Amino acid sequence: MQNDTGSGLGELNFHVVDDEVFIRKLIIRVLGKMGADSEKISSSENGADAIAWLDDTTQPPDIILCDLNMPDMDGVSLMRHLATRKYRGGIILVSGEDKRILKAAEDLARAHDLNFLGALAKPVTPDALESLIKLYDPLASQRTEREGVELTADDLKTAIENKDIFVVFQPQVSVTTRELIGVETLARWIHADKGFIPPDIFVHLAEEKGLIDDLTELVVDLAVTQGGEWLADGLDVKISVNISVDNLNNLKMPEYLGTKCEEAGMDSRSLVLEVTESRLMEDIVTPLEILTRLRLKGHDLSIDDFGTGHASMEQLKRIPFSELKIDRAFVNGAHRDAGAMAILKASVDLAKSMDMLIVAEGVEDQDDWDLVAKLGCDIVQGYFSAKPMPAGDIKVWLQGWLA
Ligand code: C2E
Ligand code: CA
Ligand code: CA
Repeated sequence: MQNDTGSGLGELNFHVVDDEVFIRKLIIRVLGKMGADSEKISSSENGADAIAWLDDTTQPPDIILCDLNMPDMDGVSLMRHLATRKYRGGIILVSGEDKRILKAAEDLARAHDLNFLGALAKPVTPDALESLIKLYDPLASQRTEREGVELTADDLKTAIENKDIFVVFQPQVSVTTRELIGVETLARWIHADKGFIPPDIFVHLAEEKGLIDDLTELVVDLAVTQGGEWLADGLDVKISVNISVDNLNNLKMPEYLGTKCEEAGMDSRSLVLEVTESRLMEDIVTPLEILTRLRLKGHDLSIDDFGTGHASMEQLKRIPFSELKIDRAFVNGAHRDAGAMAILKASVDLAKSMDMLIVAEGVEDQDDWDLVAKLGCDIVQGYFSAKPMPAGDIKVWLQGWLA
């Protein structure tokens, strides 16, 4: 068998982790039958043994097949250990547990940014196993290694000062009329030597290194200036920017935003501030003051990635949010995922009862669109309508979208 990149199964190293001898042997036998080299298959009885073995070996496996439920260290903890060790090989989960547990473990693997190939329900069949192994792409492992490139606070400081960080805009459209309602501003950084740096990575770095106010000011500046230009050009859209919780300790933030809007000729009601709920922690006095003042000044406050955090309900009650953005984990593919659907519906009901505008993120296809339309979301943001794009492309995209 050849996978998509052409490396034969016989060249791959496998490591099987399962506490049941019978299952271990079965998987090894299936792998052998499929053409794997028995010399290249190793195994462990539980996660702790697997980690000890991994830390010791000079030849990390290309693919780890791992049972979820094991004594000592289960598959979920094993994944965390693999993530801290920046393991880049493929991971296949094997389990006899119910579908929802398996789905949760899958989501976790993705959240850890592991190279997750898929999950297999027991009993393992050669066909199912083969289809997952085919997904293994040795180049993907190298790619992620490159992404793990070291960035320093100085790199970022220089990028902010030199304005190497720029922004793109992703349209937000009305579910009922398809009209363009707003755009979300997303920061981008293409480092001269290190290439594309994902925003999650440099935003996190900025928060860690005390540079987040500088980064946010740059993004706000670019966003609001663009908003003013669009307005002068007859395009009246709301502009959303992402605000980090760390920005909410800066008491000057509301005035700064107000001045920026004024300079650009933009109404403060057109500048929407997105805050991720999971980072709104216990020490909320200053953030609460700032958020309340921002709302008083007319800005819309949007609770971002709704459904993924821990404190959602409590924060919803305390902070005057006017918009709720449902995370794409509960939108994309929700029509075939009962768990996601339940959370999506509950979020919509909650937002409606609190009189908030509902934005569905991650609408990637017609099925997603139809579902959020049926449930009564107001606004859609996702690849189905548009990917993030440079400001200059918005007008052409809009013509095509409304055609
Ligand atoms: P976010 O605020 O949740 O932004 C939406 C992310 O989802 C964007 O990723 C966007 O490109 C992506 N996206 C949009 N539609 C779809 C879709 O249909 N399918 C899929 N799979 N993805 C979709 P991006 O640009 O990589 O940004 C990642 C995160 O980085 C953002 O998540 C936000 O938390 C953070 N970020 C980006 N720019 C800024 C910024 O200027 N300031 C702060 N504080 N955070 C930022
Ligand atoms: Ca956002
Ligand atoms: Ca979001």
